[in-house]
Amino acid sequence: MAQIIDGKKLGARIKEKIHEQIPLLEQQYGRRPSLYVIIVGEDEGSLKYVTNKVKTAKTIGMDARLIALKENISESELINIIHVLNADPLVDGILVQLPLPNHINEDRVVDAIEKHKDVDGFHALNVGSLWQGTHCIAPCTPKGIIQLIKSTGIEIRGKMAVVVGRSNIVGKPVAKLLLDENATVVMAHTGTRDLRAVTLLADILVVAAGQEKLITADMVKPGAVVIDVGITRNAEGKVVGDVDFENVKEVAGYITPVPGGVGPLTIAMLMKNTMECFLCHAESSTDVSKLWATIIKARIGGSAE
Ligand code: NDP
Repeated sequence: MAQIIDGKKLGARIKEKIHEQIPLLEQQYGRRPSLYVIIVGEDEGSLKYVTNKVKTAKTIGMDARLIALKENISESELINIIHVLNADPLVDGILVQLPLPNHINEDRVVDAIEKHKDVDGFHALNVGSLWQGTHCIAPCTPKGIIQLIKSTGIEIRGKMAVVVGRSNIVGKPVAKLLLDENATVVMAHTGTRDLRAVTLLADILVVAAGQEKLITADMVKPGAVVIDVGITRNAEGKVVGDVDFENVKEVAGYITPVPGGVGPLTIAMLMKNTMECFLCHAESSTDVSKLWATIIKARIGGSAE
């Protein structure tokens, strides 16, 4: 019987650590990390989700603000708001909740966010850096998945990892992060001919398809680590994942529940990314002031105070 990976507990631990660091950062840099979350439209589910992100950031001591915009805002008005936030040195992280209404081009909006404020890691430059293996802000859910796998204590290096799903926000980046951890990675999708034959190879199985009970017990290698990313509502309105949890837990070595698995890690990693953005800005502004001090001293023998 599988051990259940408790995402709620792990997420809470990560947030607690950040909470403890914030007063120290405030002492050092004179301000707290800040997160601005933009939502367009009145979708109740999305509104609840973003409100939770803002609330979490505030609870752990960050400055956070929700900018709720009307459904009919134009793309250029939205991009103008992003430009204002980009220019504000007191804004560390900007997140635009997706999806956006059809009249707005999501890629143009995401790419309008300044790369170092892109807490979701969706900006084309961050995606490129992720694949090049240079420093970047990695997307929250894939980053959280790696933390969940590591929390089991198993070594990822050398393991066969299968990722079901190839979206830009989950499947592809998690495959790259697993590759970075030296797993042998296989990606499956709707074009995969025999999904069961592929998933049975997996020591680590990450499923992000959005299909209830796509993965059944006969598709899982005994002892495998199974990470269920899926979130859908079934016919009874219950939130479910992609894995047939009750039966798969009898075969797997470790398994995440839905809810309470990947979801809490996504939020915890958003907080971590906001911290990373803050440190990047705080450090670079410190560097700039140090640089000015040096220039002034060298040129006029004065001080930069
Ligand atoms: P997408 O719909 O963008 O992508 C789904 C992927 O799954 C596609 O690549 C698709 O293949 C593949 N797929 C779908 N059905 C099958 C199938 N029967 N066999 C094999 N592959 C299949 O979804 P996302 O990646 O955005 O999200 C996936 C799930 O994860 C959703 O339920 C979403 O709600 C959830 N999610 C949860 C998060 C969390 O924090 N817990 C965060 C983000 C997402 P193809 O490319 O061939 O169409």
